[in-house]
Amino acid sequence: MIKAAAVNKYFGDLHVLREINLEVPRGQVVVVLGPSGSGKSTLCRAINRLEPINSGEIAVDGVPLPAEGKALAALRADVGMVFQSFNLFAHKTIVENVMLAPVKVRKTNATEARKTAMELLDRVGIANQADKYPAQLSGGQQQRVAIARALAMRPKVMLFDEPTSALDPEMVQEVLDVMTGLAKDGMTMLVVTHEMGFARRAANRVLFMADGEIVEDTTPDEFFTKPKSDRAKDFLGKIL
Ligand code: ADP
Ligand code: MG
Repeated sequence: MIKAAAVNKYFGDLHVLREINLEVPRGQVVVVLGPSGSGKSTLCRAINRLEPINSGEIAVDGVPLPAEGKALAALRADVGMVFQSFNLFAHKTIVENVMLAPVKVRKTNATEARKTAMELLDRVGIANQADKYPAQLSGGQQQRVAIARALAMRPKVMLFDEPTSALDPEMVQEVLDVMTGLAKDGMTMLVVTHEMGFARRAANRVLFMADGEIVEDTTPDEFFTKPKSDRAKDFLGKIL
């Protein structure tokens, strides 16, 4: 579902992604771990072409990502992304936030878009807040809306970049529960997170990144019990 081959990315002289090779089969849940600055966000953004790469190739569902243009817009819609900050439109209601992209980008008619939006809001446990505005919701609720909004485009892949890092601790689990539900439903997911419980329970695979490289690519069980590299051992020593 996701394929990256020999991907390199520089910011000026800084080599941020170094020869990244990655294949994620359909339905796999991959957690990306690694110290700050190791290139996790850049990898997500590259997969979604929010960030151009310097060399290599990235394909989603077998289709190479073009650099720009209409084809890019269509492919980008196949990849849902959820960030640390929820970025909901403040002057639109919750249901309007979820309807917006399907109506604007997919040209779905408003009645149908609203119906789908309500189903998705129900799925993330928030249908009863549909007519409120973002500021009236808690952070955890807003992030669940952001997930529903991404799902409204019927993506083939969902990327999550530290989706719970900005939340108060008591709201983290409600967002992780929604993500776990998606994983169980078979969504292909790449999740950058510091939530080790989620990594252990919901992931099929752990990628550990350091200095722009994938240093370990293994199962959660292997990674947490028998990390191979010194970088991973050091990382785990600091967080566990
Ligand atoms: P992570 O998400 O693992 O913390 P990032 O992918 O955000 O790491 O960043 C990788 C490296 O690239 C870091 O050294 C960061 O400072 C640098 N970087 C990220 N975005 C930019 C940018 N827009 N311009 C210049 N350097 C950047
Ligand atoms: Mg990051």
